[in-house]
Amino acid sequence: MAKGLKVAGEVDSYCTKCKMVLNHRIVSMVGTKPHQVLCLTCNSPHLFRARAPGERAARTSSAPGSSGPRSTGSRAPKAPSMAAQRAEQARAEQEQVWRKAIAGRAVNDFTPYKISHVFQEGQLIAHKRFGDGVVARVIDAAKVEVLFQDASRVLGQGQPTA
Ligand SMILES: [Zn+2]
Repeated sequence: MAKGLKVAGEVDSYCTKCKMVLNHRIVSMVGTKPHQVLCLTCNSPHLFRARAPGERAARTSSAPGSSGPRSTGSRAPKAPSMAAQRAEQARAEQEQVWRKAIAGRAVNDFTPYKISHVFQEGQLIAHKRFGDGVVARVIDAAKVEVLFQDASRVLGQGQPTA
């Protein structure tokens, strides 16, 4: 960057008046660095400043936001929202319930899940995809709510297999 700089040449400098990095004409140099510059936008002379005050090497370009249009702009990853906390707590509780129901049960206690099967509340099932579960509630003749480790799911029951 210091290469080729000379008095009367041009350089990008922070303009204290325009308050942004703009093209400047070099008025004087100190060594290989511009000293005094003249803003080509507002025509005001001031000392050379490579960057805006407080700005680090990485320029904060106004790239299009990666977040959605409804973003409030203030992302706070350290403090999850109340909803998220509640959801996390509910999840922890349901896992605890699940753990209690599953604890100490033999493999034989688990009925392999089949949609054609009719389940009862409290029955232990082994699901191919979701793993071990316990029937939390019989919703109706065709549906049961089953608690798995990660979530509770509504599964079909008593239905003819296609
Ligand atoms: Zn200026």
